[in-house]
Amino acid sequence: MTSLAERAHAAAVYIRHNTAVSPHGRHRGEEHARTAVRLAAALGLSLDQITTAPDWQRRRTTPGEPVLATATCPDTGEQYVFLARFPIYDDEAFELLGPCPECSGQVPLALVRHLADLGTYLARPPIRPGDIPEADTVPDTFKVDEGHTGTCRYGEIH
Ligand SMILES: [Zn+2]
Repeated sequence: MTSLAERAHAAAVYIRHNTAVSPHGRHRGEEHARTAVRLAAALGLSLDQITTAPDWQRRRTTPGEPVLATATCPDTGEQYVFLARFPIYDDEAFELLGPCPECSGQVPLALVRHLADLGTYLARPPIRPGDIPEADTVPDTFKVDEGHTGTCRYGEIH
């Protein structure tokens, strides 16, 4: 077990290093690195269990393009993909992505700020095709997310 000071130092080095070497440029690199540090902390994982990638599907031209952060469970190898829709705002919840029950596109299924939010989501029965998700169980972005196919009735708003 490493000390808090050592882990804090490692996190700062991680952000500096990844900002400098990012293939996506300094600004994107810093957003990716900060997102990884924030997700690792939220889930109690170490930084080597988080990978990030640009989210080409939800791209914008405004600053702070969305970041996909994948957390890999060190015990089971299971992976969870989180969306930081506005990575420059680091007080915003992550959106846990998973398959839409209707179109199977990767869409936001839960807001996750910390481990207990993920626990609450995992304890719920999955949404089945035809279900109308209750407003407080899926993020507001569920219905408007770009992850739905064009014909998905859950994504009919956009
Ligand atoms: Zn869908």
